[in-house]
Amino acid sequence: CGIFAYLNYNVNKERRYILQVLFNGLRRLEYRGYDSAGIAIDSNSSDPIPSSSSSSVSQPPLVFRREGNIESLVKSVYQEVAETDLNLDESFSIHAGIAHTRWATHGEPAPRNSHPQSSGDGNDFLVVHNGVITNYEVLKETLVRHGFTFESETDTEVIPKLAKFVFDKANEEGDQTVTFSQVVLEVMRHLEGAYALIFKSRHYPNELIACKRGSPLLLGVKDLTENMNNASAFHDEKFLSKNDHPKELFLSSDANAVVEHTKKVLVIEDGEVVHLKDGGVTILKFDSDKGKHGGSFSRPAS
Ligand code: GLU
Repeated sequence: CGIFAYLNYNVNKERRYILQVLFNGLRRLEYRGYDSAGIAIDSNSSDPIPSSSSSSVSQPPLVFRREGNIESLVKSVYQEVAETDLNLDESFSIHAGIAHTRWATHGEPAPRNSHPQSSGDGNDFLVVHNGVITNYEVLKETLVRHGFTFESETDTEVIPKLAKFVFDKANEEGDQTVTFSQVVLEVMRHLEGAYALIFKSRHYPNELIACKRGSPLLLGVKDLTENMNNASAFHDEKFLSKNDHPKELFLSSDANAVVEHTKKVLVIEDGEVVHLKDGGVTILKFDSDKGKHGGSFSRPAS
């Protein structure tokens, strides 16, 4: 019932801090109702490992999911941290974390039905979802025919699996340059119902994509730095100029999970796809008529 994400870019943050931001975000969304919660974080801060294809792939993200309230998720994460060699002091100059509080619509409250939902082994694609996918049964049948096995009873699980299907197909067809936003736009073409979604992928380390139709979503940016030459994307001049590159970015269902960090908030509109990459923000418009995106565009910040 609430989605949240935190991306720090070119600013060192310890795992301890990143977890705190994600948990606090969830605590602020708790009022929306919940029966389960979950997060996904990066497993280490080393550079992406080159894979056999030309695209890079990072270590599988770590996923923690639990039924019950936020505090029981928090407790179990720290318990697991203590039992494994996960270092809370590990510092990340870039890190993309996602989080979810669930109000079950399809599938009982249980860890397997909690979000992030996954594309399968390796967590190639992870998704947090607020809303309902009404045509999930048809999509599920098709994906099962293509060899996917499902772990949950949620409507959401088709989304990360569809993303993996689209990504793998593009690569099989020799398109190793398929971008994260191209994958998500293709996924959106198949989804019916209401959603706000955040995607995280080990194929696109350090990037996040969010999109929405019917469910609320907003973007917060903090600590703008100028003149970074490796960032190309921008939104519109009123919200971010070409030279503004936020060091911390937030995605959330509700402003109250963001305002403790920044007052610079943009409400995302239906059909918009927000791509956070290389310290930049690009907003694409999903065009269902054409079945593909209409390119980057600007609109006044509301
Ligand atoms: N329909 C999804 C589920 O049942 C998401 C529910 C929500 O918005 O929390 O898992």
